[in-house]
Amino acid sequence: MTSTVVVLDAAHPEGVLADPSVPLVRIDDQGLTRGDGVFETMRAVDGLVQKFEAHHQRLSASARLAQLPVPSARDVRGAVELALAHAAPGGDGGLGAEHAVKVVISRGTPADGPWSWIVVSPVPETTFRQRRDGVTAVLLPRGHDPAQDAGYPWLLPGAKTLSYAINMAALRHARSLGADEAVFTTEGRRVLEGATSSVVCARVRVGRRTLLTPEPSHGILPGTTQAKIFAAARRDGWELGYGPLYPADLMEADAVWLVSSVRLAVPVRRLDHQPLPVDPDLTRLVTSWVQQA
Ligand code: PLP
Repeated sequence: MTSTVVVLDAAHPEGVLADPSVPLVRIDDQGLTRGDGVFETMRAVDGLVQKFEAHHQRLSASARLAQLPVPSARDVRGAVELALAHAAPGGDGGLGAEHAVKVVISRGTPADGPWSWIVVSPVPETTFRQRRDGVTAVLLPRGHDPAQDAGYPWLLPGAKTLSYAINMAALRHARSLGADEAVFTTEGRRVLEGATSSVVCARVRVGRRTLLTPEPSHGILPGTTQAKIFAAARRDGWELGYGPLYPADLMEADAVWLVSSVRLAVPVRRLDHQPLPVDPDLTRLVTSWVQQA
């Protein structure tokens, strides 16, 4: 077992190491039986967790929507540091020793109520390969426009919940079509987000460099990686655009990436069977923005 686990519960609010080779989740845990819980996935480099405040803020926003308690930033950070201190060596993709750090808040059992756990695992070679070689993707309709969920808090708009069955089914469907990744669109073909990533593209014209992404507040997950890339790009003089984006915008872009905390910026080299330009210099630049302290 290469994962390290820390549990935060009523008895251990600051977190305690747990043995991942023994059962830790009860059979009637509602995180398990109903996907009723929220989570974050972060990246640690050389034992230091990246963008911690942004992740804790989004975890808190997700938990607020789902009416779940959130461990304090101090407790989560301490528990993550404890897990990292006992973790197996990080994956080596040339950017330091990298770990994926997952924080889960589950509704728990009806008897015991909510609790949290943290799992730290080395970033796998498949992630490094995708960063190097890029991915192919297909556009899949999301069925409805998640912006329509915005007024209905019980639809948990923008919350990162444990209910990822649809996202995983979309990935399986993409793979059955011979692609690596799925990118959701509305019925009107507006681009939303990847199954587990945000979509970012670059348009480079003489004297004008623009980064574009679908409007993050319109029912999709507001990506912490996209936000960090955009903040750094603005400092470097790039223009920023926040959707709406349509397939033609991606097809005509100078580079398209799927971005998320652990994968960083993965170039999309083919979308719906159409080759897209891949620009290693731009990918290096975007990756350096994500990596900035
Ligand atoms: N959108 C979805 C649906 C995701 O699952 C993720 C990450 O898991 C993202 C976007 C990117 O979020 P972040 O950059 O904060 O990791």
